[in-house]
Amino acid sequence: MGERYRSLRDGGDPHEWAYAWRRELNRGGFRAVDFLMDEVVESGKCVGCASCVTICPVDVFDYVDERPLDTRSDACVLCVLCVEVCPVLRPADRDLPVMLERRPPGVDEGFGAYSYGVYARSSDPEWVARAQDGGLVSGLVIHGLESGSLKGAVLGDVVPEQRQIGRPLLATTREAVLGAAGSRYTYSPNTLALVEAMRRDVKPLVVVGVPCQVDGVRLQQNSSISLSVARWYRDNVTLVIGLLCSEAFTHESVTKLGEMIDVEPSRIDNINIKGKVVVRLDDGEIRTASLKQYQDFARPACLYCLDYGAENADISAGGVGLDGWTLTLVRTEAGHRALQGAIDDGWIETQPLETEPRGMFLFDMLAGAKKKNRPLPAKMPTLAEREALGWLNPKTFYTKGPGVPEETEGTS
Ligand SMILES: Cc1cc2nc3c(=O)[nH]c(=O)nc-3n(C[C@H](O)[C@H](O)[C@H](O)COP(=O)(O)OP(=O)(O)OC[C@H]3O[C@@H](n4cnc5c(N)ncnc54)[C@H](O)[C@@H]3O)c2cc1C
Ligand code: SF4
Ligand code: SF4
Repeated sequence: MGERYRSLRDGGDPHEWAYAWRRELNRGGFRAVDFLMDEVVESGKCVGCASCVTICPVDVFDYVDERPLDTRSDACVLCVLCVEVCPVLRPADRDLPVMLERRPPGVDEGFGAYSYGVYARSSDPEWVARAQDGGLVSGLVIHGLESGSLKGAVLGDVVPEQRQIGRPLLATTREAVLGAAGSRYTYSPNTLALVEAMRRDVKPLVVVGVPCQVDGVRLQQNSSISLSVARWYRDNVTLVIGLLCSEAFTHESVTKLGEMIDVEPSRIDNINIKGKVVVRLDDGEIRTASLKQYQDFARPACLYCLDYGAENADISAGGVGLDGWTLTLVRTEAGHRALQGAIDDGWIETQPLETEPRGMFLFDMLAGAKKKNRPLPAKMPTLAEREALGWLNPKTFYTKGPGVPEETEGTS
């Protein structure tokens, strides 16, 4: 099976693979979980989205160092859901937009269809001050919880003693949501909190996450293998807010950033990337560092991800464009209901995207850069192969590094 999958590198469409493996499975001879571990995890292609962990009905996996570990592999009941929901192994089905109830007109400029976009921010200046950009994300989540349309939120919390490291959180109160506001640029496996939500039957739910997590949630919701876990996610995750994402960074990046700006890493209160790395220290002082240098510490696994705009979210939110506001794209009817409800109640204020055209210009550019020359992960080299090539930077592998197709080498 592995050989057949790897043969995709010599041609063939990885979108077709989702169907091909079922045929192979029916013939017998391999376990889906072993295949997932070999092809995605051991190859270093796992992006850490935790989707396989949260869908497994018999708890085969632990989650360690940003990847699954099949600790209880013997418990596997051969349901194959872990393979079904892995966004690296299985690109989202082309019919996913139908399930998502996209809101018209469905403008598609190459970063996922959307209905309309605005700059948005919370109407409470205190919330904006605690947030990463305009506090749109926290504002929408709290509005949902307090207006009764949501009962829980799967978010990324802060590890108190290491403020740049995230951890999953199931939040049900305003205080908890505000405590998790702001961005950690290291990887936070937010969606692990789905397990707690299901166990406690906290619903309806919003999930906030980076695009790999959004795709993992969508694959779980859209699975054609109708086990109760998948059905629970389909019925009870009613809103998915995606954060734009060029890449996440390694834990080591925090120490390195401290060295770059000459402070103890523990003094770093917030990091915001705005063409350069803008660092707020614990006493409010702002220092900046070179983004180019910082990008050397981008997480290698992020190469296997082509989604900048959280293309399958209900709402995509990012920090490009107008300072102090969140660039917000509404993609689905559920996204529109959430945003419009918060605007109608006076919780969120907006400005047209034309106020600062640079926002959509940057969105388009960064989304394009993340897809440029990149084949689907099935056709990409493994982590070991990249190490051998001496080029781990996910940002530049296919634009300046060994992944640049020969015919375009030397062109600008
Ligand atoms: C790793 C990462 C990379 C990003 N890259 C870009 C980019 O290239 N371009 C861009 O425009 N925007 C990027 N963003 C999004 C941006 O930083 C803001 O999250 C977004 O603009 C929303 O701002 P806000 O003020 O509305 O959110 P807030 O109200 O501050 O809420 C932010 C939410 O993000 C969640 N969160 C925090 N850290 C993480 C994490 N590590 N993983 C998952 N969830 C987390 C929190 O739970 C919180 O609910 C990135 C975010 C992350 C986490
Ligand atoms: S990418 Fe996600 S679903 Fe795939 S193996 Fe890694 S954690 Fe599991
Ligand atoms: S680039 Fe962002 S969305 Fe993609 S794998 Fe990395 S953290 Fe996930």
